Amino acid sequence: MTTPHIGPAARYEVLVPPPADASTRARSGRLTLTHGVVETPQFMPVGTNATVKALSPDDIRTAGASIILANTYHLYLRPGHERIARLGGLHTFMDWDGPILTDSGGFQVVSLGDLRVVDDDGVTFRSHLDGSTHRFTPELAVDVQEALGSDIAVALDQPVFPSSPRAVVAEATERTHRWAERSLAAHSRADQALFGIVQGGLEPDLRAASTQFIASLPFDGICIGGLAGDETPEQRDTALDVAIPLLADDPRPRYLMGLGSPADLLEAVHRGVDLFDSVLPARVARNGQLWVPGGRINLRNERFLDDPAPVQDDCPCLLCRRFSRAYLAHLFRARELLAYRLATCHNLTFTLDFMARIRAAIQAGTFPAKMTELRVRAGRISSGEGAEKSA
Ligand SMILES: [Zn+2]
Repeated sequence: MTTPHIGPAARYEVLVPPPADASTRARSGRLTLTHGVVETPQFMPVGTNATVKALSPDDIRTAGASIILANTYHLYLRPGHERIARLGGLHTFMDWDGPILTDSGGFQVVSLGDLRVVDDDGVTFRSHLDGSTHRFTPELAVDVQEALGSDIAVALDQPVFPSSPRAVVAEATERTHRWAERSLAAHSRADQALFGIVQGGLEPDLRAASTQFIASLPFDGICIGGLAGDETPEQRDTALDVAIPLLADDPRPRYLMGLGSPADLLEAVHRGVDLFDSVLPARVARNGQLWVPGGRINLRNERFLDDPAPVQDDCPCLLCRRFSRAYLAHLFRARELLAYRLATCHNLTFTLDFMARIRAAIQAGTFPAKMTELRVRAGRISSGEGAEKSA
């Protein structure tokens, strides 16, 4: 393995390494980027179109976010990366002064199905907006992200569904490796970190080889791709148990793309993942599903129309400080726009607070002992099961 460089645009320090007894691979660290510091393990809310849907930048900050994700594919198509660059870059454009990670666009492009064709040089695809034809190459994906000016850019990859046949996974993984090298060669912005993506599906040997290959390149961080799709939690755990031990002595942050339920985040932290992103907390919020300790409640349920209690007693979010379940239930029924803002504020606050609890437990050296309590909070197991397991 060549010595990975962690460029000046990203410095990662492991503050609390996994314990020597191997009871967990969870660790805590600090990732220093051009626009600020990110404590890990950390969750990144997704701002697809340079906005976390329904929230202002102040709402995002108040919810506890220290870094957000924006989608390269969407911003390339609309309003266009060159326009954003002319307007001062993505941070200025959306008035978010904290760190931003842009994904490579690979996931969106490749998930277009019949609307795209992948070859060794890149991906030709039809815009989901107007049907116009476009072509993404590893070099263009880097150019677009450099124009956007994110703190972290990600190399173009070819993700496939975890359940894809082995030959499909193998070909996409090989192509991802070649594109990783081309992305590094194309990248020139010194104030921007570049992460590479591991593929390999659910095939242990392909996953291991991809981890070793991507880790041998001078990326600033390692993304674990091709999961958080149609695999079972057990299959995901198995893939992580292949990849993460190979990175045990690697000084760079590990980012599992696309995972977002509290229960899933907890198990992946336990297996050694540092960074996450997902639309899930915001998407379910807009459907009236509010995450609370022990599970979720559905504000579209009639019984909440007469409930004067806050959604969660001890929650500091905009919703819970000022409004009742009854009021939010009413807003959802009336399809009032404020419902989406309040519900999203809550679910992101819950998620980011959950990550803060995980970090605190790791830093206190009590993470393995607190797993049961955290699983109960995440709704993974009921409090009754938790009581039995800790008894
Ligand atoms: Zn709340």
